[in-house]
Amino acid sequence: MNVLVTGGAGYIGSHICVELIEAGHNVVVIDDFSNSKPEVLDNIKKITGKEVKFYEFNVLDEAKTEQVFIENKLDSVIHCAAFKAVGESVQKPIEYYTNNLMSTLVVAKMMKKYGVNNIVFSSSATVYGDPEVVPLTEDCKLGETTNPYGSTKAMMERILTDVQHACPQMSVTLLRYFNPIGAHESGLLGEDPKGIPNNLMPYIMKVATGELECLGIFGDDYDTPDGTGVRDYIHVVDLAKGHVLAIEKYADPGVHICNLGTGKGYSVLEIVHSFERVNGIKINYVIKPRRPGDIAICYADPSRAKRELGWVAEKNIDDMCRDTWNFAKKQMEKKA
Ligand code: UDP
Repeated sequence: MNVLVTGGAGYIGSHICVELIEAGHNVVVIDDFSNSKPEVLDNIKKITGKEVKFYEFNVLDEAKTEQVFIENKLDSVIHCAAFKAVGESVQKPIEYYTNNLMSTLVVAKMMKKYGVNNIVFSSSATVYGDPEVVPLTEDCKLGETTNPYGSTKAMMERILTDVQHACPQMSVTLLRYFNPIGAHESGLLGEDPKGIPNNLMPYIMKVATGELECLGIFGDDYDTPDGTGVRDYIHVVDLAKGHVLAIEKYADPGVHICNLGTGKGYSVLEIVHSFERVNGIKINYVIKPRRPGDIAICYADPSRAKRELGWVAEKNIDDMCRDTWNFAKKQMEKKA
């Protein structure tokens, strides 16, 4: 298949490109490098031996996006391009709503115009809000989102669902990611956010490299076994494989919703201690107050993915910690 990956140079998009190519698909990428670097494309080539066809611009640019649809006989789209920093989204709601919603509308409009009927959308477990019960199944009620980033994900789901209803020949797949972490085992692709990371694993990584002094753990008084927040961490390569199966298997018209998680929850302290044990590095941490908007526990019921896609997460927490550190070491060597 010819697959357009918007945001294909990003953390998740780049891993998706690798898995698509390794499954025999042709990949076209649009990315404006707003949160990624050109070298990612070279690294995809190093891993796979194949080029992706690349266009540098923001998908908001409708004329340029249209040109990509004209130049390429696309079969499907994986839409990952979006701003994703929770804290920043609170400071910059206009930018977040404009970028995330408008780009989704541009993609949907072009798909309709050029008869591309299959889209897989990067959604997030954040759309469930504070869960009433765990594990979360796809039938759980959608919750209230607690920041503009989360709201854009919920709204993008809504937009694509409405588009499918109006275009019944379309297949719209909403993949709800739990907490993607880890890196490609080659150490060539991973997540290296600019500035102070918002998410747990990139923060641990930067404490391990010495770039940051100490991890703040946001609350140790939650109703969880050790008091710290529990999440369903999923290896980014497993997540990427789920996308390949989704474009291949959810080809029938309709709206398909599928969680991608492991079904297991780990606390912040368990992640810190796993990272220390697997990599032989001490992570300094201090307990801080709870972070506003955080929930105590969130993990997936991944049985639909198993049943409908034949997908199960193959990598465990140790793999996630080892691959993150392997990537971080390679980044350090480059910076040195
Ligand atoms: N967390 C933390 N310190 C940090 C970043 C995150 O203690 O510097 C905790 C956070 O409170 C949550 C978990 O780690 O319990 C995962 O947070 P992350 O931001 O990675 O993902 P979220 O589930 O909030 O989207």
